[in-house]
Amino acid sequence: MLVVMRAQATEEQVRAVCEKIESLGYRPHAIPGAQRVAIGITGNSGEVEPGSLEEMPGVGEVIRVSKPYKLVSRDVKAEDTVVRFPGTDAAIGGTEIAIIAGPCGIESREQAFAIAERVHRAGARFFRGGAFKPRTSPYSFQGMGEAGLQIMAEIRERFGLRIVTEAIDNESLEMVERYADVIQIGARNMQNFSLLKRAGRARKPVLLKRGMAATLEELLMAAEYIMSEGNYNVILCERGVRTFADHTRNTLDLSIVPAVQRLSHLPIIVDPSHGTGKRNKVTPLARAAVAVGANGLIVEVHDQPDKALSDGMQSIYPDQLDTLVSEVRQIAAVLGRKVATDPMLVEAAASAR
Ligand code: PEP
Ligand code: MN
Repeated sequence: MLVVMRAQATEEQVRAVCEKIESLGYRPHAIPGAQRVAIGITGNSGEVEPGSLEEMPGVGEVIRVSKPYKLVSRDVKAEDTVVRFPGTDAAIGGTEIAIIAGPCGIESREQAFAIAERVHRAGARFFRGGAFKPRTSPYSFQGMGEAGLQIMAEIRERFGLRIVTEAIDNESLEMVERYADVIQIGARNMQNFSLLKRAGRARKPVLLKRGMAATLEELLMAAEYIMSEGNYNVILCERGVRTFADHTRNTLDLSIVPAVQRLSHLPIIVDPSHGTGKRNKVTPLARAAVAVGANGLIVEVHDQPDKALSDGMQSIYPDQLDTLVSEVRQIAAVLGRKVATDPMLVEAAASAR
């Protein structure tokens, strides 16, 4: 059920409707739109009796949401969600294309700083790096843990890059939330419902990767888990799914981008690194992702990929990142969109002239 407030409704009227919903034993989610506030109702297993809400001051209409996902749906919010980062003008969603780049895992301070410097110089606003790695083998590199998070916090200080890093369970989420700007939930955890609920109570945006065999509806339902707990800053990510194709590690399903955008207001970005598993396919698929309308890219970069402790084969070289960003910028321009650049870089370029 969704309560659509009138455009002229006051804050008190919105609050009164929320209180009423609570008194009925449900949870209200007030979601502001460009024209009016919509209030999603969750916590109800059956139909909510709309009568008492319809008559309240400021209420435009009470409508049934027939889809299983509600808060992620465009029915609740027609405008695109833009995830913003306090203290910066970096954003994910809307007309800007966000570039998130960095190594698969943080391996040492030297490695992370060397790559971060190049990521920053390439014009990206976000740095990725795993401190907790979900690996197929228990004997593979599992990540540096908190020491890795500390290195990324230093990278944020040094380069002004926002930090994107994965939490693999409730304990690591606690720690990741303290250090990161975006909490990544990996493909293997897309249906870890207790972790999704915990992420929904976090105060940081969540990057939710599509499970390797998840349908569009399952991806949206996973996002709904996070939002139903009150965290509305969710970014979806296509990272490839399992198919019979063996020329790539996964099959990057770019058609999910417009499919998501039709149904949901949430931003969706694309990971061409895990989506292909091969360095030489990352840039072509990054270009395609932007052409198809993705809100951003998350790309693995390494200065010495042959020595990488994880995902070296799909990590591009820093020079290749420069090319990728420059090509993507040109494709974005055709679509009336732009790749946001750090104002610090623009200044540095101007003073170098
Ligand atoms: C990663 O981003 O390094 C990662 C493990 O991704 P995914 O969950 O998509 O496999
Ligand atoms: Mn990886």
